[in-house]
Amino acid sequence: MNFERVKQYIKEAGLPNFRIAQVRDAVFKRGITSWEEASNLPADLRERLNREQPILSFQVTKVICSKRDKVAKALLTLQDGLQIETVLLKPQDTWSVCVSSQVGCALRCSFCSTGKMGFKRDLTQEEITDQVLMWYQYIRREKLGDRISSVVFMGMGEPLLNYLNVVKAAQDLSHPDYLNIGARHISISTSGIADKLHKLAVDLPQANLAISLHNADNAERSKLMPVNRRYDLDDLKKALEEYIAMTGRQVFLEYSVLENVNSRPEHIRKLADWIYSIKDNYLLHVNLIACNLGRGEKTEDRVVKEFANGLKAMGIGVTIRKSMGNDILAACGQLASQKK
Ligand code: SF4
Repeated sequence: MNFERVKQYIKEAGLPNFRIAQVRDAVFKRGITSWEEASNLPADLRERLNREQPILSFQVTKVICSKRDKVAKALLTLQDGLQIETVLLKPQDTWSVCVSSQVGCALRCSFCSTGKMGFKRDLTQEEITDQVLMWYQYIRREKLGDRISSVVFMGMGEPLLNYLNVVKAAQDLSHPDYLNIGARHISISTSGIADKLHKLAVDLPQANLAISLHNADNAERSKLMPVNRRYDLDDLKKALEEYIAMTGRQVFLEYSVLENVNSRPEHIRKLADWIYSIKDNYLLHVNLIACNLGRGEKTEDRVVKEFANGLKAMGIGVTIRKSMGNDILAACGQLASQKK
């Protein structure tokens, strides 16, 4: 829900200002899913809001829950009929939401289902924040909790290619009047749009930054991630040095381990060399992911552990991220790109 639009609507209807606070409480605190549930509003206003101001800007078409992990994935149908997906997960004690920023993606990374769909359009600020609001409604309705603690922009699309809407959405999400997600609990994951990092450091200095690296060899990375032809590892290195100097924040390097593609000892060496070539590299931390290949398959744990041990032996900070929701096609784009 675009709260600014609803505020304007209430003002133009000549209603008293306290109605705005009542609407805010009903939507962002109580997590109502229909205006009918806003018992603090008069019946005629509830009816008008129901007709003219839907709480969510999309229909929830399907929600599937993992039998193994605390993960649920939703397929959402936007007003123009296009579909996106969003994920709710609880890797530790708190709920986190992974949001999409675009319908499809133009960057066509070879391992990604979203990339295979091609680019359709950017999501609006409202379509992004509503993904979190939808999960907030869900956890309240299912009595799973009353707080979403973090949001990651790691779903469909490249967030830094929908820059303005992503920044505005992140600012809204952390606003105390809305869902009040701590600014330091919002993470932006980019494939490495190097020329946007300076602006990001200015606009969202508290957000976490993750770079999807996946290979530290230019030729090999370009095959895996064609975006590397536009912004190569040198561009990324310079942009990261500037970003770290501006923010002093830790930056995460995401590395999906693909067996026999980027998992060999020379890949470990190249990754360590690249990291050591960066100024203030003590602020870089590698997150290894056992690549989710779809259909419930993923790279063997043994291969990921060997890769982590190789990096550790070279003094690089590394964590193996738990792969969740393999049974519900939880990797980005796998559900929305499925044939119906
Ligand atoms: S991995 Fe991210 S950047 Fe690459 S194609 Fe998929 S959505 Fe786009």
